[in-house]
Amino acid sequence: MKYASKTNYLTLIFTVLQISNVIASEKFADSHIHFNWDHREETSVQEVVDILKQHNVGLTIVAGTPSELALELRENGGDWIIPFFSPYIHPLGKRDWYMDEEVIKRAESGLSSGQYFGIGEVHFMSGFKPETDNKIFLQLLALAEKYKVPMLIHIDSSNEQRFQRLCLANPNIKMIFAHAGGNLRPSHIEKILSRCDNAWIDFAARDPWRYDGISKEDYTLLPQWKQLVLRYPERFITGTDPVWKVTRGSTWDTDDEGWQHYEKLYNYHWTWLNDLPEEVRKKIAWENTQVILKK
Ligand SMILES: [Zn+2]
Repeated sequence: MKYASKTNYLTLIFTVLQISNVIASEKFADSHIHFNWDHREETSVQEVVDILKQHNVGLTIVAGTPSELALELRENGGDWIIPFFSPYIHPLGKRDWYMDEEVIKRAESGLSSGQYFGIGEVHFMSGFKPETDNKIFLQLLALAEKYKVPMLIHIDSSNEQRFQRLCLANPNIKMIFAHAGGNLRPSHIEKILSRCDNAWIDFAARDPWRYDGISKEDYTLLPQWKQLVLRYPERFITGTDPVWKVTRGSTWDTDDEGWQHYEKLYNYHWTWLNDLPEEVRKKIAWENTQVILKK
């Protein structure tokens, strides 16, 4: 072994040791997970709770399809599991929630009883219904404001304006922009951050096995993303989002083995987190999520 490659080898071992130390010692707020009807066939409620515990997850935000699956997770796991009300109240609810008044009834009853701690994830895909001025969605916004809970919103758009309109129009609602790193580049996200104090940004599902877009080959953040994160360390969170079907070309009625990939996703997020200064890393991995959930 030549000296240079030996040095590289040792550096690599050292980095790996460093990363595993951080993973072992620091709690992680996995701020974007799902437990859906099609996960359930592959991974039981108890198995999901065990996977999270094994990975030192001290807090997690979960959305279920149907919504009450998130409640089951909390009942089995404990109060560190934070269910958000998902407007997808039946297995195919993602297709028709925006026309269904029942969604509002259930949201109101789940929020007033304190079962749910937020609303989401709500998806708005380019070229598909609904739009953000949809009647049901406007009522969900009103409920978020009334019960002082955050919303997790997924907007596919070619620029920041759609989300920005929302966060500017609802300054009293904390809004999480899900999955930054796609069409919205750091310059777009910066506009959202500078204009909306009530907006946070999440990097869920931006791992190289699914949507990618935020990191280099060594899984550390691309320079422009890193710069933005360092500029706004209080405004970023992340999560593993173990939904796998999206990449397999599967049909809607097959099971989703996403939870079996948890470790890989978790390690990926810790790799880029570990490349950040300690203070920033702790904010993104843990503290910022508490701020969002605080009433
Ligand atoms: Zn999601």
